[in-house]
Amino acid sequence: MAQSDTVGQQLLSRLDGRECEFCSDGTLVRGVYKGNAAVICEECGTPTAQSW
Ligand SMILES: [Zn+2]
Repeated sequence: MAQSDTVGQQLLSRLDGRECEFCSDGTLVRGVYKGNAAVICEECGTPTAQSW
């Protein structure tokens, strides 16, 4: 459990600040999607990764 949480956090920190794959102008920021840690586009709101 704790180990997979750590992997999830590393994945999120890698994705944080990247350009969105789903729109041209968006930047990915860390947030919460459906109660889970996720990286969400600030422009279109598409969640790119959830912590699973
Ligand atoms: Zn986007």
